Amino acid sequence: MIETGRLRVINPPRETPQFTPELLEKLARRVFLSGQGTPHTLHSPFDGKVLGVIPLCSPEDVRQAVERARQAQPAWARMDARSRARIMLRFHDLLLQRQAEILDLTQYETGKARRDAQEELLDAAIVAQYYATRSPGWLRPRRVGGTFLGLTQTWEYRHPVGVVGVISPWNYPLAMAVSEPIPALMAGNAVVLKPDLQTTFTALWIQALMEEAGLPRGLFQIVAGGSEVGEALVATADFIALTGSTPTGRKVARQAGERLIGVSLELGGKNPMLVLEDANLEAAAEGAVRGAFANAGQLCVSLERIYVHEKVFEAFTRRFVEKTSSLRLGATLDHRSQMGCLTVQRQFDTVLAHVQDAVAKGARVLTGGRPRPDLGPLFFEPTILTDVTPEMRVYHEETFGPVVSLYKFSDLEQVLAQINQSEYGLNASIWSRNLRKARALASRIQAGTVNINESYAAAWASMDATMGGFKASGLGRRHGQEGLYRFTEPQTIAIERLMPITGPAWLPRGWYGRIATALLKALKRLYRLWYRL
Ligand code: NAD
Repeated sequence: MIETGRLRVINPPRETPQFTPELLEKLARRVFLSGQGTPHTLHSPFDGKVLGVIPLCSPEDVRQAVERARQAQPAWARMDARSRARIMLRFHDLLLQRQAEILDLTQYETGKARRDAQEELLDAAIVAQYYATRSPGWLRPRRVGGTFLGLTQTWEYRHPVGVVGVISPWNYPLAMAVSEPIPALMAGNAVVLKPDLQTTFTALWIQALMEEAGLPRGLFQIVAGGSEVGEALVATADFIALTGSTPTGRKVARQAGERLIGVSLELGGKNPMLVLEDANLEAAAEGAVRGAFANAGQLCVSLERIYVHEKVFEAFTRRFVEKTSSLRLGATLDHRSQMGCLTVQRQFDTVLAHVQDAVAKGARVLTGGRPRPDLGPLFFEPTILTDVTPEMRVYHEETFGPVVSLYKFSDLEQVLAQINQSEYGLNASIWSRNLRKARALASRIQAGTVNINESYAAAWASMDATMGGFKASGLGRRHGQEGLYRFTEPQTIAIERLMPITGPAWLPRGWYGRIATALLKALKRLYRLWYRL
């Protein structure tokens, strides 16, 4: 280990990974192709070296992949949901058993630290277990209230939508290859997944593991490529679950709107953290490090702006800067390194541009602020900025990297207005010892998840609760019952009993109207009592 500046750096990074070139070649053959596919070489962000070769799909390949999935889906939908669940639970076990292999592969593909890859793995296992155990009950036909006087017996059924197209980014490839496909599959659908090209191997590994767990072949297809392959999927699937940037979300929603198919969109964020004057500052600073620099800041729910009460600003900042500047950076396949690098050049360029723009316009760098080519081509130091103003890009644009801005506040109402000014509304975090006050404040923040005395993990890991974005951060929700139901078509089945709801044929219409009116009035009185209104 060498010391450079105040950041501790691990160098050299290499050990022998758990996967082999032969495994990657075998995985690459799993990409759905009707012909040859154009070879595309993938490089590891850790060192820029060749990782492997993936054949790219054409739009025709995507059409055929969806067709193949469509053929496999009806038999799967007819299978008892409990049998589907048992396959997912086997997948859960295999995933935990074989974690060393996939953690290495995911790290090589993304350049992330071991701890971040491990977080993904645990998330994937939790999702598998959650939907396997809950879905069979949720998918059973549900008896609901019928018409008045029990004239009907009414049920709600949940049918699969057919073929769900999943389009995912590169930042959490392992979690993304599981967290959307599993509820979609549990609901009786087939899935065609288009991962980001950079992280195709991880998706293929997950697909292989699901088939090893017993998932019938053809039900879960992987197509490889960029935006044109994504567009081809939106043009043919029956539902699209996209995780990606807000501009892509808008394009996909437009295209899906033309076809009148459903979408769920998990998009970008500019997530705020609020440190109140009664916060535990040590815990808040620790939480800020995790919230801003987990996965090198390439996390949809990561914190990019921190508002600190003026009375504790100095004390919080001192702790936060100290903890950040002692983070260990490096490319190791174990837990020695605490932060890895950026995954794609485009993201590295955005991070550098945001920092340079802010500094040129008068922002101060409290720590970090520099690329680290000595560690690898895409390493960038965890960076804390202050004196950030609205003219700077970093003030309102999503950076999606290890850069966070600190703001001092004195008036709570003003800071709430500032927080809610953003076009985004994905995640927020509040730190205070007064939990009642913090909860009241949380409900006034326009964000799909708000964590109290935590940065993002408390809400994310609460699998029973929904996760998603307000405003430009998305449409629809993952997790919880809604996370399953979005992949279903609800159907109401009602049986008429005794006599028609429109009244017996012999009853004059005038009489029917008078009886119905009297009944409605009586029912309203009853309901007011019942619901205490
Ligand atoms: P991106 O939008 O560029 O790409 C995401 C995926 O969409 C990729 O697979 C890409 O190939 C595909 N795609 C791009 N254009 C498309 C089109 N026109 N039609 C169909 N598919 C298309 O996003 P990115 O840069 O890869 O990922 C980073 C973004 O993802 C950030 O904005 C981040 O906040 C967001 N994100 C959100 C969540 C969430 O849960 N809300 C989670 C992770 C990442």
